Amino acid sequence: MPRCQECYSENSRITPLLKPRGCLQNHTQYICGTCGRCICIEHDPVRNLQRWNFPFKSAEIAALYLRTADYTSKKPCGIYELKSGTGRASYKIFEDAESLRLYLQKNRDKTCKRMVPVYTAEPYREYPHTRIRKLTAGEVEHYMAERKE
Ligand SMILES: [Zn+2]
Ligand SMILES: [Zn+2]
Repeated sequence: MPRCQECYSENSRITPLLKPRGCLQNHTQYICGTCGRCICIEHDPVRNLQRWNFPFKSAEIAALYLRTADYTSKKPCGIYELKSGTGRASYKIFEDAESLRLYLQKNRDKTCKRMVPVYTAEPYREYPHTRIRKLTAGEVEHYMAERKE
């Protein structure tokens, strides 16, 4: 399958990656208006975080959540490669280089060698059929069945 121009994924049912049923049942989803992929966009008001704010193991996995970052920020965000003190790489999405700098100031054990994104999707666009909502019980079953195909 070609890469979806709206949500940047080749696999329209790959997400949610972890505990998919629980995520689909309980969390607000970004429902891609182009390919139908559901991306968790649930906002945790206590920690003021969404799924895309967390570090990812690879740039490819981060790219699965990039659309929710772009949509939330209303601009093209970037995936940046970070290194821990032990040299372990992780990938994190930031709105811009300034928010990366603020993060690095607060997390002194992390470094970013190239202060440019390894991936970004420009320009930012909106799509007419995007929906932000929780799925109905029937939609969850339908989506889960499609994941197995
Ligand atoms: Zn979720
Ligand atoms: Zn899509």
